[in-house]
Amino acid sequence: MYVVTGATGALGRLAVDALLERVPADEVRATGRRVETLDDLAARGVDVRRADYDDPATLTAAFAGATRVLFVSGSEVGARVPQHRAVVDALTATDVELVAYTSILHAQTSDMVLAREHAATERMLSDAGLPHVLLRNGWYVENFLADVAGDVERGMVGASGAGRFDAATREDYARAAVATLTGGAVAGDVLELGGPGFTRAELAAEIGRVAGRDVPYTDLTVAAYTEALVRAGLAEPFAAVLADSDRGAAAGWLTAPGDDLARLLGRPATPWTGVVDAAAREAA
Ligand code: NDP
Repeated sequence: MYVVTGATGALGRLAVDALLERVPADEVRATGRRVETLDDLAARGVDVRRADYDDPATLTAAFAGATRVLFVSGSEVGARVPQHRAVVDALTATDVELVAYTSILHAQTSDMVLAREHAATERMLSDAGLPHVLLRNGWYVENFLADVAGDVERGMVGASGAGRFDAATREDYARAAVATLTGGAVAGDVLELGGPGFTRAELAAEIGRVAGRDVPYTDLTVAAYTEALVRAGLAEPFAAVLADSDRGAAAGWLTAPGDDLARLLGRPATPWTGVVDAAAREAA
């Protein structure tokens, strides 16, 4: 039985959809907390089960009979070490053949705040002796599309300097994850995943080109970018984490060496320009 956690979220759902192109629905289990959003999958014959990383009993039930598991990292930054510990403990009690965990680029060496919980989870998987693959995902291209209209109107700000984001679409990461579960990887593989990237200045220039407006990029200090994100409505702790990630990008921690993503996909990653251009056309 293939089990996908976080199937109620964007990445996990795409992974379930991609999995269903390859294996019968009765071999797929989709899990998450808001399982009421998965009724359409249940109607197609997918086994839908509630799995809450804060509730070990739900994890035991969610992983019963699991052979290949896509373990999608939780989204509550700061709470993930005990949550992921519960997932690893539950998986340890099964005969799982392969666990694919969605980590972050360069998890063990990156000094980004966001890398800490991923590094700890990678160590837990290893210490538990679970056969696993690390999907060290880069940034989603979609992360940059939250306010393209605002970028066109006011220009873009960030703190990533000339740092590159080797980003890829969620869909590509989801398809790569499914490829690892269906024979494209073996236990022990550490995959650094990302597409051909861009700097924020290149991103701003591309949006400007399509929108027919000059869209300048202004590089801020980490503190000033944090303040800008707070002014834009983000809670301060999350704004600080995002600004720290820009600092990490400037230091090179969001670049993907090699061609792991294209290799798993069996084709080049979806070009970021296509996705960004569509958003810029809509915003113009
Ligand atoms: P989403 O926010 O769309 O989905 C997060 C998923 O994690 C949801 O299914 C959610 O379940 C599940 N989840 C969160 N906390 C728990 C918990 N305590 N117990 C069980 N399930 C939980 O994120 P994406 O799908 O876009 O991304 C997947 C993961 O990748 C994120 O959770 C995060 O770790 C990481 N990420 C990576 C980014 C990148 O650029 N590479 C950007 C953003 C996040 P439910 O909704 O049912 O509560």
